[in-house]
Amino acid sequence: MATRTIVKIDEELCNGCGACISPCAESALELIDGKARVIKEELCDGAGFCLGACPTGALSLENREAPEFSEQAVKKISLTRPRNYKPQKCMQCGMSEDQAWLLPLKHGGEARWICTRCLPGLIHG
Ligand code: SF4
Repeated sequence: MATRTIVKIDEELCNGCGACISPCAESALELIDGKARVIKEELCDGAGFCLGACPTGALSLENREAPEFSEQAVKKISLTRPRNYKPQKCMQCGMSEDQAWLLPLKHGGEARWICTRCLPGLIHG
């Protein structure tokens, strides 16, 4: 155990949409009983890429005592179970992630998946 940065999930704010599951490359997050959960703390590297995908602000990072991040554990879990993957679509044009690159963006507390084709329009208006 060590004090380190790790994801924190506010159960009250989580609506179980699952948008945070795919961005986690380490498969640390899963939907259990309709709520996002960190299935093993050693799988969360605290990078926080999931935060941008959450539409409700349920995810944040905190510093606290937790088992250290383990690449071994990530490798092990990727071998023992299929990735819990939820494909996303651009919330601007509906393009799937098979058709274009998608990025999670946040603005004014709102989170959206946006494809790289729509991104210039958002940047330049
Ligand atoms: S993206 Fe946010 S609201 Fe949706 S499941 Fe994950 S934590 Fe819950």
